[in-house]
Amino acid sequence: MDNDAIEYNVEKVRQELEQRKLELEREMANLYQEKFSDDQVQDSADQALSSTMESLRVSMHDAKNMEYKRIVQALRMIDEGTYGVCVDCSKGISEKRLIHYPNATRCLLCQEKYEEQARPLE
Ligand SMILES: [Zn+2]
Repeated sequence: MDNDAIEYNVEKVRQELEQRKLELEREMANLYQEKFSDDQVQDSADQALSSTMESLRVSMHDAKNMEYKRIVQALRMIDEGTYGVCVDCSKGISEKRLIHYPNATRCLLCQEKYEEQARPLE
């Protein structure tokens, strides 16, 4: 091994991300299916509950969709060979950070610096 910047197993990460991606696809499909099975005759109490459930479902779907997009991006970075490498300092991003932020493009130090710069001056 001559590349010591990436000391974790990228293939393992890829498999985990792909598995999570499939899970999310299934979960999102289920959310849609539930929506269809609700389309029955409802009284007003059911309808009120149904609209609460509906907004809950939409926010759940949004959260899943965001995670899904992050995973898709992370998988693309793995393909491009840029996964897990900080765009600012070119050092490896820690595995722990990547587990929480699969599409992190900066190491923790550079991310902090980046956010400090992005923050408006007071
Ligand atoms: Zn960095």
